Amino acid sequence: MTDLAFTITEADRLPDAERAAILADPGFGNHFTDHMVSIVWTREAGWHDAEVVPYGPIPMDPASSVLHYGQEIFEGLKAYRRPDGSIVTFRPEANARRLNESAERLALPHIPESLFTEAIRQLVRIDADWVPGGADQSLYLRPFMIADESFLGVRAAERARFLVIASPAGAYFTGGVKPVSIWLSSDLARAGRGGTGAAKCGGNYASSLLPTRIAAENGCAQVLFTDSATEDTIDELGGMNLFLVRSDGTLLTPRLNGNILDGITRRSLIQLAEDRGLRVEERDITVREWAEGVADGSIVEAFACGTAAVITPIQRLVGDNGLLVDFGDTAPGELTMSLREELTGIQTGIREDRHGWLDAI
Ligand code: PMP
Repeated sequence: MTDLAFTITEADRLPDAERAAILADPGFGNHFTDHMVSIVWTREAGWHDAEVVPYGPIPMDPASSVLHYGQEIFEGLKAYRRPDGSIVTFRPEANARRLNESAERLALPHIPESLFTEAIRQLVRIDADWVPGGADQSLYLRPFMIADESFLGVRAAERARFLVIASPAGAYFTGGVKPVSIWLSSDLARAGRGGTGAAKCGGNYASSLLPTRIAAENGCAQVLFTDSATEDTIDELGGMNLFLVRSDGTLLTPRLNGNILDGITRRSLIQLAEDRGLRVEERDITVREWAEGVADGSIVEAFACGTAAVITPIQRLVGDNGLLVDFGDTAPGELTMSLREELTGIQTGIREDRHGWLDAI
């Protein structure tokens, strides 16, 4: 709980039938719930004016810092409806901590973890009818913080706003989990040493849009970025972390080198793999090691992971000069699918939450 009391202004709710029609096929990021959370920060007064208000436009002066210098950070997590109808979120305190790490890098204010998690609870409670209950469905929560001081000088803003909006999300894979092809971005980078790669800030995503478009033009679902200095050392995908699986069951994943996001799915999968007695190596991995490992049979599976799709099996890695890696018909691999099943089982209440990752709403 937090000391800051939330003022609640109830919205005119979308009629039940219209909401039900949306929840039947929500897609991703298309529809928003009836309410949102807004909390204001100023250097003098700290965090104040915590509100749950009808979802809608926010006041924004054209000189707001975020519009000019991109001083913005965000998070992404999900609320799940369990078979008994109750609602849980997955590791929200980890998102709170990561938001504060991003805040540090973007010179935005830290938000107390209890205020972050209470904001999530307030929104999910008031919009509980928006949490779908179908297979692989969830309510995607998007907390974010923007600098909204009206000032064109280039310095950290002295005024910011924290908001949470929510959007019902359908199954990422309809008709079963499908392995994807990914595109190796050789000349366009997302992050560099000392940059903002480890922060979840809008600018990182802005710089990934062009390479992601190029990936799509080459028939690939996601783009793989490598370290801009070494070129061959794997960082992560545009919106997911990467794992490789060796034939002895060892998992390999790039270490948190300051350029990549400390994914909560990544961290959870490392824990689940270690619980099974599997070895997990967090270290530098090169594209060459991946390609040679697949060629000699020592690397047998690859997958991407993140909140949106949990685990996405990777079938091929494609670059400027054609196919770099191809698992052929063996993808998705056995360990990939069994880790996916275990983590989604915990999230939806089918499996025991032995690490205490779920937060009841
Ligand atoms: N890397 C990037 C760049 C991402 O945007 C995401 C999605 N938040 C991830 C990794 C995976 O993080 P998480 O498991 O916390 O969703």
